Amino acid sequence: MNQNNPDYVFKLVIIGDSGVGKSCLLIRYAENTFAETHVATIGVDFLLRNLSIDGESVRLQIWDTAGQERFRTIITGYYRNADGVIFVFDKTKRDSFDHIEDWLKEVERYSSAKVVKVLVGNKADLQPHAVTTEEAKLKADQLNLEYIEASAKSAFQVDLIFDSVARKIIQKTHEAGI
Ligand code: GDP
Repeated sequence: MNQNNPDYVFKLVIIGDSGVGKSCLLIRYAENTFAETHVATIGVDFLLRNLSIDGESVRLQIWDTAGQERFRTIITGYYRNADGVIFVFDKTKRDSFDHIEDWLKEVERYSSAKVVKVLVGNKADLQPHAVTTEEAKLKADQLNLEYIEASAKSAFQVDLIFDSVARKIIQKTHEAGI
């Protein structure tokens, strides 16, 4: 893969309540490590990763956002340019699941209609689950999102999230004849 001149460059945004594991998912994806101690995200951090999808080279620019209200005005600017949005909730925290529709509304307000969206139930390694897989899938279907269960801690299906979003964006790009 030619990393200096990828076939595609996509912007992704990862959002969800504070503490659901957004930074940990990114660290797992980028460095394949996991940090136990919680460091609250301040503002927006940004990560680059090159990957190959069905023989095509893709560069992902992933923006990690803070859940805090005071950063919202900065973050809305990132939605506008996003090709994909990853909505994360914590499987052990009911509230973080209930808030997904609020996050969705916010994204729909600022992003383009063709943005690819995926719902991620993180911390699948922990018990008890406050949200069942069936319930999360049902909600994802209702909201027209793909659902992926993951764990930043055990690395379960973390790569799948990003591969899946990248693949869907490529599909949309082909459909649009770009
Ligand atoms: P953010 O505010 O959404 O970026 O959340 P963080 O990535 O900072 O994670 C918040 C806390 O959850 C940290 O203490 C992490 O160690 C923990 N955490 C994140 N992902 C997982 C996971 O998949 N499993 C478990 N057991 N803990 C996790």
